[in-house]
Amino acid sequence: MRQKLIAGNWKMNGLSEEGLRLAEGIVDRRLRDIEHGGEISRACELLLCPPFTLLAQIRPFLGGTGIALGGQDCHPELSGAHTGDISAAMLMDLGCEYVIVGHSERRQDHGESDDLVRAKANAALQAGLTPIVCIGETESQREQGQTQAVLRSQLEGSLPELDGREAMRLVVAYEPVWAIGTGKSADVQDVTDAHSGIRSYLAECFGSDLAQGVRVLYGGSVKPENAAKLLSLDNVDGALVGGASLKLEDFWAIATSCP
Ligand code: PEP
Repeated sequence: MRQKLIAGNWKMNGLSEEGLRLAEGIVDRRLRDIEHGGEISRACELLLCPPFTLLAQIRPFLGGTGIALGGQDCHPELSGAHTGDISAAMLMDLGCEYVIVGHSERRQDHGESDDLVRAKANAALQAGLTPIVCIGETESQREQGQTQAVLRSQLEGSLPELDGREAMRLVVAYEPVWAIGTGKSADVQDVTDAHSGIRSYLAECFGSDLAQGVRVLYGGSVKPENAAKLLSLDNVDGALVGGASLKLEDFWAIATSCP
């Protein structure tokens, strides 16, 4: 059975004081849960993806909590003359286990193509990180009935080159662009259809048994009010949470919604 993954993507938010306070708050909740038998900790793995600037400061707080640390992006090369960029090897060196690649904000703001996303995911794997590869359709693609075709084409273009036996090292995040940061989450039918299409594609790539090991997260306006419903759906193996991950109570309420 796939353990759910609840990942907080803080985006470009958090100066030291507030970022550390938030991380400490999550650690505190987690430790209290462990002390009381660890029910929530067994139900879900927690992942924090703060801005690069906070990774080194937050890392020491996470020792012994089982809370994982991740980057929000990485360069497709592991080192070299790329001023201002951060490599997957550097994230690994800081104690990260995951990195988000292909987030729609990067695809939009930085014109990132599927090819580039794939190269980043390959670099992540090479460095020993688990890539969280984000895909999702825009509102107009959805209105034109293109969701499944768009998701398939993004998967074809952005998934890393992975031996099927290593499929468990991959996480896919379905994040409909129109649902990100809008407060308007995809409904149960949208999510069910998208996730089963993704699982079918993974089965074509890796075979159905190995495809069962890949976690497919939903992201897009996940909040305490809709988390339990979304997280109980077949093929939804967790959530990539933006805005609500910046509020301790909301993030923890989402984590405690894991069935
Ligand atoms: C995200 O940016 O990955 C995201 C899902 O954001 P939000 O939860 O704010 O919609």
